[in-house]
Amino acid sequence: MSHVFHRHLKHHYPTAVAGDGPWLIDSEGRRYLDACGGAAVSCLGHSDAEVRNAIVEQVQTMAYAHSSFFTNEPMEQLADFLIERAPAGLDSVYFVSGGSEAIEAALKMARQYFLEIGEPQRRYVIARRQSYHGNTLGALATGGNAWRRKPFEPLLLEMSHVSPCYAYRDQRPGESDADYVERLASELETRIEQLGADQVMAFVAEPVVGATLGAVPAVKGYFQRIREICDRHGILLILDEVMCGMGRTGSLFAAEQEGISADLITVAKGLGAGYQPIGATLASGRIRDAIAAGSGFFQHGHTYIGHATACAAALAVQQVVESRDLLARVRILGEGLQQRLVARFGDHPHVGDIRGRGLFRGLELVQDRDSKVPFNAALGVNGKVKKAAMEQGLMCYPAGGTIDGRQGDHILLAPPFILDDSHLDEIVERLGRAIDLAHP
Ligand code: PMP
Repeated sequence: MSHVFHRHLKHHYPTAVAGDGPWLIDSEGRRYLDACGGAAVSCLGHSDAEVRNAIVEQVQTMAYAHSSFFTNEPMEQLADFLIERAPAGLDSVYFVSGGSEAIEAALKMARQYFLEIGEPQRRYVIARRQSYHGNTLGALATGGNAWRRKPFEPLLLEMSHVSPCYAYRDQRPGESDADYVERLASELETRIEQLGADQVMAFVAEPVVGATLGAVPAVKGYFQRIREICDRHGILLILDEVMCGMGRTGSLFAAEQEGISADLITVAKGLGAGYQPIGATLASGRIRDAIAAGSGFFQHGHTYIGHATACAAALAVQQVVESRDLLARVRILGEGLQQRLVARFGDHPHVGDIRGRGLFRGLELVQDRDSKVPFNAALGVNGKVKKAAMEQGLMCYPAGGTIDGRQGDHILLAPPFILDDSHLDEIVERLGRAIDLAHP
């Protein structure tokens, strides 16, 4: 019996022993093509020599120095690298160990900012239904995924949730993008009024929704409208780019494609690409300056803030992405993947929608394509696709949201940026077999 406390305690997990480009290899010698980067993490695949060398070098020089005593060179360099490329107004980076920690830090920075500027009454967070922002209690409370929240409801902070921008399900027939955006904007405005405009602290959203909906970008103009509303009411905008950031959608930050900036942006996953655990919260000058001018101390902290080896790994990852021009590659490969998915599944009776940006693509699986009726949640179709795919030597991510109070079935693809066209063919072929084997 395994003494590891795995997530699924009744499942048998193969033992991963090696990585080879976009492939993972188990102890039986089976090879798995990683079409989801684990959970949109492994953007450079599993054996990048430059990143490995950077890690070894850092460990040999100095693995770690606690951030309450020292800063360190990789942390400073990584912060400079990110801020030089970040959307306007962001000017400092708080490094943590993953996505949930990045969200927790963003929420606490937002709260402390309002204390520092003399608006202590601002405490409400508005996020969106069918969203995921992490599994620690603050992040889980922020998320609007009913299934993930349910067992822990009594422990969760009260947060407010509005509709996501989810055109496939929620845009009405004949409704223009502009009208749909206005409908969502007025829902948000109403909620702000109900809570009291001067009581609301932040609005939190993923520019492209990942884990709960499977790569759903907002319709054009949505985020600009959200930005305007937040500005008008003095509410901070927190963009969660833990999954969709760091090049995944074809630009370093997903917000760039929306033409907006944010007060706080969280990143993780692709930042260290799985070579080391790392996340970060990017903060605007306004927030940093308010805290600096006030108490001068952000009342938060973790043991591994700015971990030197993790920062060295992430810096190497980002330098590789830039020096090999991989963002351009993501855009080209992303189009190629979308075309192949449409060719293979465009008429599939159980594939309702094929969507996404860059190398962040999602399929929505439905019982009936015309009526968009989802599969019965009890069938666990997306879990079955994941299992069948593993049997085909393919990793894909079963994203799950809640549609009308029920679990939805989405398949998320987020492969490494280092693929070639033959990998795309292979992903689509193996996924096709897995979906055909799995649906009832
Ligand atoms: N935010 C988003 C958008 C995510 O997709 C995730 C992870 N799936 C998280 C936060 C939490 O990140 P982590 O699992 O690293 O804590």
